[in-house]
Amino acid sequence: MRAIHHWLDGKETAGTSGRTADVYNPATGEVQGKVDLSSKAEMDAAIAAAAKAQVAWGATNPQRRARVMMKMVDLLNRDMDKMAEVLSSEHGKTFPDAKGDIQRGLEVIEYAIGAPQLLKGEFIDGAGPGIDMYSMRQPLGVVAAITPFNFPAMIPLWKLGPALASGNAVILKPSERDPSVPNMIAALFKEAGLPDGVLQVVHGDKEAVDAILDSEVIQAVGFVGSTPIAQYIYERAAATGKRAQCFGGAKNHMIIMPDADLDQAADALVGAGYGAAGERCMAISVAVPVGKETADKLIEKLVPRVEKLKVGPYTAGDDVDYGPVVTAAAKKNIERLVQSGVDQGADLVVDGRNFSLQGYENGFFVGPSLFDNVTPDMEIYKTEIFGPVLSTVRAESYEEALKLAMDHEYGNGTAIFTRDGDTARDFASRCNIGMVGINVPIPVPLAYFTFGGWKKSGFGDLNQHGPDAFRFYTRTKTVTSRWPSGIKEGAAFNFKAMD
Ligand code: NAD
Repeated sequence: MRAIHHWLDGKETAGTSGRTADVYNPATGEVQGKVDLSSKAEMDAAIAAAAKAQVAWGATNPQRRARVMMKMVDLLNRDMDKMAEVLSSEHGKTFPDAKGDIQRGLEVIEYAIGAPQLLKGEFIDGAGPGIDMYSMRQPLGVVAAITPFNFPAMIPLWKLGPALASGNAVILKPSERDPSVPNMIAALFKEAGLPDGVLQVVHGDKEAVDAILDSEVIQAVGFVGSTPIAQYIYERAAATGKRAQCFGGAKNHMIIMPDADLDQAADALVGAGYGAAGERCMAISVAVPVGKETADKLIEKLVPRVEKLKVGPYTAGDDVDYGPVVTAAAKKNIERLVQSGVDQGADLVVDGRNFSLQGYENGFFVGPSLFDNVTPDMEIYKTEIFGPVLSTVRAESYEEALKLAMDHEYGNGTAIFTRDGDTARDFASRCNIGMVGINVPIPVPLAYFTFGGWKKSGFGDLNQHGPDAFRFYTRTKTVTSRWPSGIKEGAAFNFKAMD
């Protein structure tokens, strides 16, 4: 049985709380490791050590910090296969998808190499007689990242690149369900030249998170996970004066217009709905065909595609479209929700329950389910299922489809499939959703744009990665200076123009 410890002060460090959590192999259902769960005292000590280490790191010039990122890119590329193997074994996603998880994180580290440019302030000379004014971006100090199970490499790297390159120390509290890859990332950062203590990986559950939220040292919290926890963390972090950005769950709609290429739309829906077993915050979970003819044809095209999906362990290689879900509890919840859809009157066109795979009978596999004639009052429509389940809600018009997406409480991502530029442009402009795809089902912005949802999918200010991340992890200071100081004006009692 593997023991997964914290990563403190540059090395693996066994926890002292006496509490651990089971880490499963979701494909076999076996417990493959035990991860330490931090106590409040352990978390406080890790934070104090980070605060000490941050002083020198914050004073290191940005170009040197950028060199650590540069080296990190090489190391992530070097170890990608090794990390993807571990990632798949703890998460369950396919090997190519695990590599994608690391790749999309690596791209933010590449972006962070631009720190010297991104951290530049503004300057104006001659704002008044002998007066110059400039702004600078300074690190916050110690910041925390609390991350979900579904992207155990990408989301920690999204936080670490900008936060570290800006000169902060980071407490990373990864998901306790797949904790090994974050430790591997920390070891690579050390090899890349990051000083000990600047990145502390502290494993844990609510006790560790609450210690972060109540700490007076932590200056900012970046969270990604489910909406109830995002809201909880946002409120508790803000109550102690921390900067917080907390990204939550999703229910992403894809609108299919009558003029869309329906084969392309059906392929996109199958990939975006069932890829990674639907455990993506950008998964499409609702298809909204516009018009009866579009809906009938779309269902006709979807059914054989969904029935053909290959579900299996990551070890089966390219023969698998998606793997198991993360825990037995997740499987049970998904199957309960499918039953609720049936009970509430939706048409279950493909039933993925009671899926069993020879040799993997104890794995957490869920077959793909497809619903037609779902209505907005149903639990399967309102709830984020986070599993391989696609719901079809039929709309009579574009306006009805748009309203549907806009009225949903989540606003992470959305997509429209159409050949009509006017409709696509109108949709992108009017919808109240953070990320929009036009004939692109999963519109995850690249590293140099920003990622973030609206409504109940995101609390706080500024998005992840891109320029926003550098703003989130720095504070602006503005300096007004007068040289030569020999200019004599006498005492001034009123605000006035500088000229
Ligand atoms: P989760 O909310 O259960 O856990 C996220 C983190 O919060 C973990 O580190 C966990 O240890 C911690 N946590 C869990 N319960 C807690 C509690 N009661 N108090 C304090 N901390 C707690 O989420 P998950 O199941 O790991 O991830 C899936 C969710 O994340 C989905 O809802 C998905 O949509 C969302 N997600 C959102 C985005 C986004 O950018 N919006 C990206 C990825 C995942």
